[in-house]
Amino acid sequence: MSSPSSSSDSTGVISKLKMPLEQESDEQTEVGNYFVANYPPFSFWTPDHKDSVHDVLNSPRPENTNLGVYFHIPFCRKRCHFCYFRVYTDKNANEINAYLDAGIREFERYAQTSYLAGRKPQFVYFGGGTPSYLSINQLTDLTNRMKDLFPWDETEEVAFEAEPGTLTEKKLEALRNIGVTRLSLGIESFDDHILEVNGRAHRSNEAYRALGFAKTLGFDQVNIDLIAGMMDETEDNWKRCVDTAIEQDPDCVTIYQMEIPYNTTIFKDMKESGRISAPVADWPTKRAWVDWAYNRFEEAGYTVNSAYTVVKDPEKTKFVYRDSLWEGADLLSAGVASFGHFGGVHYQNQADVGPYMTEVDSGQLPIFRAYPTNHEERFIREFVLQLKLGLVHPSYFKEKYGEDVMARFPAELARLEADGYFSFGEDEIRVSREGMLQIDVLLHGFFLEQHRDARYT
Ligand code: SF4
Repeated sequence: MSSPSSSSDSTGVISKLKMPLEQESDEQTEVGNYFVANYPPFSFWTPDHKDSVHDVLNSPRPENTNLGVYFHIPFCRKRCHFCYFRVYTDKNANEINAYLDAGIREFERYAQTSYLAGRKPQFVYFGGGTPSYLSINQLTDLTNRMKDLFPWDETEEVAFEAEPGTLTEKKLEALRNIGVTRLSLGIESFDDHILEVNGRAHRSNEAYRALGFAKTLGFDQVNIDLIAGMMDETEDNWKRCVDTAIEQDPDCVTIYQMEIPYNTTIFKDMKESGRISAPVADWPTKRAWVDWAYNRFEEAGYTVNSAYTVVKDPEKTKFVYRDSLWEGADLLSAGVASFGHFGGVHYQNQADVGPYMTEVDSGQLPIFRAYPTNHEERFIREFVLQLKLGLVHPSYFKEKYGEDVMARFPAELARLEADGYFSFGEDEIRVSREGMLQIDVLLHGFFLEQHRDARYT
């Protein structure tokens, strides 16, 4: 299948996708975060709003709101050069155990609140960092204690992020026994040179081994993450990487376009050498590579079901964490720097282990900043996040928020239609492939005026 947004000539060279919205100067990969993970942007969340979280927690439990539970494991074997997360590569087993104990105490406090007591999670997510950095004993003990507080017997999905080099067959078996249903492998590339240059801890043989074990153990769903445009990536190499991913036959593949946020090693090196653009492919090239990959996956029988994912079987392969959060589920999020959301109030925990542990030790919830959303912001949040799926139904927003999206954003929608990014049908707004490849940039047009041009870190 081919897409109007890219083409290969007889030499197989991918033509770069030109997007009318962009100016020449915007095409290089400069420092910044473009990915829209939430709304309003994090820079509006402040410590003075922390009380709003407590107000929700002291209110009665809601009738019809799904609950997710997230735990953040901030440890990694090595810091990748493109990483902007708070990660620790030097903690010993005692320090890690102390951190896990703190996380459980945090969950205990939440379990005693009127808003959360007795609720069972619809989905559970272990993110990081590297959750698979934990030992089998640590994982078993942690999850047993979490289940005592928030039982998993009604849980539809337990998602777990793993770095291939930390996985043994025994650890994967333990993860299956714990109840993990969606194993997500941070493979990023199948090329050892690319992995090394970008500071990844693992190599391709570890990725193949982990995929082999995962397959024989029969996880409900195996996802692999790839990144388009890592340092030293070439078109030929990217194509080989996509073809290798297809040969490995995962249920789901998530593809990110490389961005260079401020607190990365790559940005530090750029600053020291006075460079403005990062030593990675420019945006049109990255979009063309992702477009080529999506076409290739479609030829292999996969379906593109969001701006970042392809799945082998859209009926069977769901991503409950993503879909529920984008429909306004509560997220009880614990651990350092983690992001949560209760009853319309966003919050983020302390971003460093020191203050995080101090607050937990002193009997507090370790919340650093929060933001109580209003009705309009909740509506916009769901609308922009759901647009990342490539299809939204205006009737959903009418029913849930009383908002007619077509009447609410007439100019923006008309502009996106004229540019070929959006089209409209009976109760449908569809995002074209070109739109999907740069969806995060397009979404800012739906933000309230005061939230535009905000930093997304
Ligand atoms: S494995 Fe992930 S969280 Fe850890 S350093 Fe690399 S990018 Fe960051």
